Amino acid sequence: MTRLILATRNAGKIAELRSILSDSGLPHELVGAESYPEVPDVKETGTTFAENALLKAHALARATGLPAVADDSGLCVDVLNGAPGIFSARWAGRHGDDAANLTLLLSQLADIAPAHRGAHFACAAALALPDGTERVVEGRLRGTLRYAPTGAGGFGYDPILQPEGDTRTCAELTPAEKNAISHRGQAFRALVPVVRELLG
Ligand code: IMP
Repeated sequence: MTRLILATRNAGKIAELRSILSDSGLPHELVGAESYPEVPDVKETGTTFAENALLKAHALARATGLPAVADDSGLCVDVLNGAPGIFSARWAGRHGDDAANLTLLLSQLADIAPAHRGAHFACAAALALPDGTERVVEGRLRGTLRYAPTGAGGFGYDPILQPEGDTRTCAELTPAEKNAISHRGQAFRALVPVVRELLG
């Protein structure tokens, strides 16, 4: 069975991709990067989600000699010309401080009217092989931004993004509901035919 490595230590992402691959009938065994602790973390020096996903996938494939998958994602706000974008995880300065990031973004958008609060989550998912072959696909979840956080589920900016066609925020969806429409779910599902093409 071909082993595929996913460049994350996030158990939720591993479970999500594992279930998408097995739902599609792909026989590949998926393991998280924590199974290879000797592989150093990669600096995300790219300027797009796709570049950063490819950087991570190539580094992992080179270091392990196995096919590797990586994703990079963030929130893109229309009136901010796509920001926070690749800076989503450190918008307020400290990497991964979800509460501070969300508070800062809400204050920056305080005067923006409902009609102009469009935004989307974006995700790029990359597959790299040890010989340097690469593919990258993308997924998006469009919605509008609330004025205050609502809902206790999810993470990051979930409590302020209300997906198009729904009255709830992403933080009020069940994990299955979110995976069905999310940027990451879409990108991972788009990766399935790519895995099939390159790995059989
Ligand atoms: P990463 O791709 O896991 O590095 O995520 C980057 C950042 O984008 C996260 O720290 C969150 O702030 C934001 N983000 C990405 N995907 C989501 C999502 O599904 N919900 C909420 N925030 C997200």
